[in-house]
Amino acid sequence: MIKIHNKDNLSNELLVGFLIDKFDQPGNKKLQKKLHKLLKKGFKDKKTKPKVLEFNTFMLANISGSNGHFNQSEARISLEKSLYSLYKDYVKRTSKRFRSRTKRNRSELESHKILAKFLSSIPNSPDNPEEIITRENRKMINFLEKNFLHIIERSWIIFWAFKQKGEDRIIVEDKVYHRNYDLQTSSSGLHAFDELLILNFAHPFLKSLNRLLQDTISRVDNIRDAFDGSDTLEIINPDLTSEALGILGGDLVGGIDAVRTIVRQINRIEEIQTSSKQEIEILNGFGDEIRKTVNNGKNLADIRSSFKNIIEVLMDLQILVRDLNKQALEGRIEVNLEKFHSAIIELPIQLREVKIWADRFMDIAFLSPESGEVALTSSKDEFLSEYQDDKEIIVEARGLHKTYRPFSSTIYALRGSNLTVKRGEFLLILGPSGSGKTTLINMMAGIDMPDRGKVYLEGRSISSMSDNELSEFRRNHIGFVFQNYLLDPRLSVYENVALPAIIAGKTNQLHTRVHELLDSLGLKNYANQDPTKLSGGQMQRTIIARSVINNPLVVFADEPTGDLDSETGKQVLAKFRKLCDDKKIAFVVVTHDREVSSFADRIVHMKDGQIIEKSFS
Ligand code: ADP
Ligand code: MG
Repeated sequence: MIKIHNKDNLSNELLVGFLIDKFDQPGNKKLQKKLHKLLKKGFKDKKTKPKVLEFNTFMLANISGSNGHFNQSEARISLEKSLYSLYKDYVKRTSKRFRSRTKRNRSELESHKILAKFLSSIPNSPDNPEEIITRENRKMINFLEKNFLHIIERSWIIFWAFKQKGEDRIIVEDKVYHRNYDLQTSSSGLHAFDELLILNFAHPFLKSLNRLLQDTISRVDNIRDAFDGSDTLEIINPDLTSEALGILGGDLVGGIDAVRTIVRQINRIEEIQTSSKQEIEILNGFGDEIRKTVNNGKNLADIRSSFKNIIEVLMDLQILVRDLNKQALEGRIEVNLEKFHSAIIELPIQLREVKIWADRFMDIAFLSPESGEVALTSSKDEFLSEYQDDKEIIVEARGLHKTYRPFSSTIYALRGSNLTVKRGEFLLILGPSGSGKTTLINMMAGIDMPDRGKVYLEGRSISSMSDNELSEFRRNHIGFVFQNYLLDPRLSVYENVALPAIIAGKTNQLHTRVHELLDSLGLKNYANQDPTKLSGGQMQRTIIARSVINNPLVVFADEPTGDLDSETGKQVLAKFRKLCDDKKIAFVVVTHDREVSSFADRIVHMKDGQIIEKSFS
């Protein structure tokens, strides 16, 4: 949700939201610059600066000012017109780039060649299968381009809050909505801006999605028959056959994953629709209109269940293809020859269509208000530490965002994660692989920096610390059990454990401290041992001893039981628990192993780069 913290209640506020093509980095940079310039010029208020952010697949811009300039409709309309033409221009450029980016890549070209070769090797196959595949593929990309353009063309909103007048003015496409509010008692609808933006996007999105759905259903059903037929096909070239079937199997795996992503998109839109009900209600008429168009005569639940059916069918297909592969080894496969040819052409293309679609809109619905997260901010207040009010909080993550851009794709590793760690608590972070756990604790431990948001250590923002201050804090107050921070094989167990204390200059009674620790961790007789000769469990316990030798405030442990069998893993966690109780050290333990949950004071779940406090089970 957008939080506007304006000291001056009587200022005008402008918010602009555009759907962008997230794969068009240079185009987006340009749009960002132009928006900035346009708003700055348009607002004619030197004291105020526009803020333009690329957030997932939306570009959001915000500016506010206290002069009465925009109460005159002329100035306002002229700015609105410029904004609109700027976006139209962007859409035009984007559509040109869309095609070149969605062209087949080299590995797809290879796959298509193999499939075409396989087709030519079986009876009654069409002439020039490669040409047919290319043509079908082009048709598919045309369809996607048309639908994508349809969506992007109308997914933008301009929102004014004229606070002197007590009026909201909202422009969606060519429609203008007004909402008057009493300055004393009610507030502007501005805070519902990002929800409106998503719901407005959802309308064309779902319409096109519906078309994709129909297409996929009719094709996939047909394809199933092709793989389950009664004709016997003699296999002359088993290698080629197995390679072709392998390609189909791989496409099915990717396709199932893509449909799952689409189901998630639908879920998010539904969540936003439900959670924002009240907020859009206040925008007289706008809410109703949007709600009507979102549903578009079709229930979201229906669309979702159709896609879930598709998953079932694709999984059936997976079994059929696997089965064919086995048969192929014996020299013949049972198929429906008449349909088999077109299935070989259609299946990869249909799945690719679904995949491109899913990738393109994968992050849209993450611009969601569900965890109270902020999409666009006009103040730094929201990142303020809670430490002033609660001294028990030792580490805080506030609104952390982290995006990786490997090659031409974008990975949103963290999407507004919030987490607090309290003195002496045992906190478990559970979540599937890839959900952002490692990224999050790297930020919280000051090893890596977020793109947005803040990390506080005892109320001090990491970003305000110098490199020296931060490393000193880490040395004295943070312990690490990380996979890439292994024991030094040249040092003994004792020396490994003592090392952080020596580096930090905390050598008081060091000998006694190390031996006490080793004793309590069941390593009494291993002090002089070469660490490479230890068992996995012993190694991990030595690492734990090393992590707590300086009596840190908090120990971060990333999958500490990952390489251990489950019994040894439990023993290791029991040691963490004991240290936590005895020494009041906080432990933040990351794992995807649910079995260890009994050790924790508190469990949070991580999913898609966000912390979800509630328990799933
Ligand atoms: P987890 O620890 O929960 O498995 P990670 O924090 O390691 O998750 O990763 C979250 C996401 O970010 C994953 O999709 C991962 O592939 C991606 N990621 C992590 N580090 C990088 C990096 N340096 N470059 C590109 N992508 C990365
Ligand atoms: Mg990890």
